[in-house]
Parts: sequence; C-alpha cells; structure tokens
Amino acid sequence: MNPQLQKLVTIQQMDNEIAEIQELVDLIPKQVAAGEKELEGKKGALNTLQQEIEELKKKRKQCEQDVQAEQDRIAKTKAKLPTVKTNKEYSAILAEVDAIKGKIDGIEEKELEVMEALEEKEAQIPDLENEFNGERKKFEDYKKKKEEELNRTRTELQGLQDKRQEAAQSVDARMAMLYEKLRKARGVAVVTVEGEVCQGCHQQIQPQVALEVRTSPDKIHQCQFCDRYLYYIPKPEEEETETAVSK
Ligand SMILES: [Zn+2]
Repeated sequence: MNPQLQKLVTIQQMDNEIAEIQELVDLIPKQVAAGEKELEGKKGALNTLQQEIEELKKKRKQCEQDVQAEQDRIAKTKAKLPTVKTNKEYSAILAEVDAIKGKIDGIEEKELEVMEALEEKEAQIPDLENEFNGERKKFEDYKKKKEEELNRTRTELQGLQDKRQEAAQSVDARMAMLYEKLRKARGVAVVTVEGEVCQGCHQQIQPQVALEVRTSPDKIHQCQFCDRYLYYIPKPEEEETETAVSK
C-alpha cells in the first residue's frame, strides 16, 4: 500500500479509538452524577421522616403550651372564689373550672396521640439511617472507582492523542487536510473497495479504478462519488492466486 495511505489508515484507526475513549471520558462524570441523584432520592425518605418528626414535636409543644394556658385560666378563675357573694356565682365559677378541665383533658388526649405518633416515627429513624448510610457508602465506593477509571481513561486518551499527533506529522499536508475534511463531513475518510463498490458511499466506482486500487496499491485513489481515499485488503486466497499469476 502507498505509505501515505497506510499512515492515513493507521491515523483513522487511532481516531476511531480516540473517539471511543473520549465518549467514555464524557460518560463517566454523567454516571457519577446519576448515582448521586439516585442517592439524593433515597435521602428523601429520611428527610421526609425527619420533617414529620419536627412537625410532631411542634404540635407536642403547642399542646403543652395550650395546657399551661388553660391551667393559668383555672388559677385565675379560682382566684375569684374568695370574692363571690352568692351560691349561684360560686357554682358558675366551679362550672367554668370544670369546663376548662374538660378542655385540658381534650388537649392532653391529643398530646398523647401526638407523642405516640412521634415515638413510632422516631423508632423508624435508625433503620432508615442505616439503610441510607449503606447506600451512601456504596455510592462513595462507586464514585471512587469511577474517578479512578476516569483518570486511567484520560491518561490512555492523552497517550493516544500524542501518538496520533506524532503519526500525523509525517503525512503529506494536502492529504492530511482532505482527510480532516472528509472525517468531519463523512465520519470515515479512508475506506476499502469490495468488488467495484466503495465501502464508504456504497456506490459502484469505475471498474478501471476498482482494478487499479487492487493492482496498483502504491497509487493513491479516491472515490469519484464521495472523495474518500480507497484501498484494498486482499483476501488470503486471492492474494495467493494473484501471487501465483504474477509468477
Ligand atoms: Zn465512495
């Protein structure tokens, strides 16, 4: 094969490999971010529970304050007793005190319910915390592994890019330019010919050109349709036959 063309084939292989590795380099941070988001979601259950507990604690405090306020009212009401003049007034005050006591009973009943709910919720915390800590540990291990993978892959990528740059230095400037242009526009710049068909655009090229690609591999050929550089990989048995013929 023409040495310049051979170089382009090698560079194209490197570029394919570089593109593949670059994809992995781009993918790894996304994988870590997705894992982190999943972990945040798992923390959501714990957060919700903690919020519910805070709410219940507020309610309990409110009940305590309400009971205190009602007890103050009882004290104030009872303070009126020494000044009463009639039985009717006396009974009225006692009735008021009883009513307040009834109200306190109601509040205390509610407070008990709140405390039971609080106890129940607080009992769920350790399990949920353990579960979450386990998940977090798992994620941290995963993240560490992925960061190591990213570093390894970046080093590999850099090595390949250096090698590629070195290989590109000895390529004919015009060919290198067309290679870049084709690579950008069509993805693949150097393709094989099978039979008389360009494996880049899959069109049938001139039989004469197809023949020349096969028989004069030292020359540089391009597809008349897609401009791609053409080369030919002899099949093992064909090579034998052709060698036999040429002898
Ligand atoms: Zn073509």
